[in-house]
Amino acid sequence: MIYLVGIDLGGTFIKTAIVSHEGELIKKIEIPSEKEKGPDGVIANIIRSVRLAVSEAGTGTNAISAIGIGSPGPIDTKRGIVGRAINLPGWVNIPLRDRIQEVFDIPANLENDANAMAYAEYWKGAGRNAEIMLAYTLGTGVGGGIIIEGKLIRGATGCAGELGHMTIVPDGDLCPCGNRGCLEAYASANSLVRRTLEKIKQGANTILKEWIAEGKTLTSKLIDDARRSGDAFAGMVMREAGTYLGLGMSVVVAVLNPDVIVVGGGMMKAGEIFLEPAREEVKRRVFAEHSQNLKIVAAELGNDAGVIGAAGLLIERGIVP
Ligand SMILES: [Zn+2]
Repeated sequence: MIYLVGIDLGGTFIKTAIVSHEGELIKKIEIPSEKEKGPDGVIANIIRSVRLAVSEAGTGTNAISAIGIGSPGPIDTKRGIVGRAINLPGWVNIPLRDRIQEVFDIPANLENDANAMAYAEYWKGAGRNAEIMLAYTLGTGVGGGIIIEGKLIRGATGCAGELGHMTIVPDGDLCPCGNRGCLEAYASANSLVRRTLEKIKQGANTILKEWIAEGKTLTSKLIDDARRSGDAFAGMVMREAGTYLGLGMSVVVAVLNPDVIVVGGGMMKAGEIFLEPAREEVKRRVFAEHSQNLKIVAAELGNDAGVIGAAGLLIERGIVP
């Protein structure tokens, strides 16, 4: 039996899994990235995590045919280079693919982490059998991925599928990428917190005001807690984020006519409160033919998506049969 290794490199943790060619998760481990140690320290941890995962799975290194890595980007997928990773200090033009390949002497592949998650949902999750699938990851930021007839769209310079960075409000709120009015500035966890705080300062009537005065930190989870306790304002700001998400989706729906849109990420713990207004907004803005068979659904693989997708893209890319 031959296995794949899938790695999900993040600012806090490195998740590494042994995955079968059929996409079954055999073993998954998680170790701290120790980003303060810089690229060399993090790469040493990645190597250690592969050895640890192989040993815990009990497969032996000889049973591993290739290693797939999902990393924050932009990523030069052709050359296997991490261009820059905002959450990993010192990561500029790091040839991560070759560094890993050299150590294990088997093929490796490097992809954008949001693209890996998108591919996992297509391969094994909520987007199975989709003809044209979009994926959104609502977390600290907004990630995206596009899969057309089984192929991940990487783009000419490896930056396709940045669905969080389309402008939806001219001269709108500042996005961490430097542009104004990106979807990410309206539908990410950070933007939800920032926009909620602004509205509270403007005098919104909400239980959150008391909670903040009691010393609680305003997070997207606290906003959702307020909504669940019946706070109308919290429900309104969350639905507003969902409406912006739908506005962003409607643009891509008009261009690509997808049949499935999968939405995952930490914010989706609140689920339908974002998806319902997003569906309404898409329906309101596109042709009936665009929306009649379109499914906008929650992701299924949760925290496993990154490692499963990184492994699956080794097959999608033809690196392993
Ligand atoms: Zn942006």
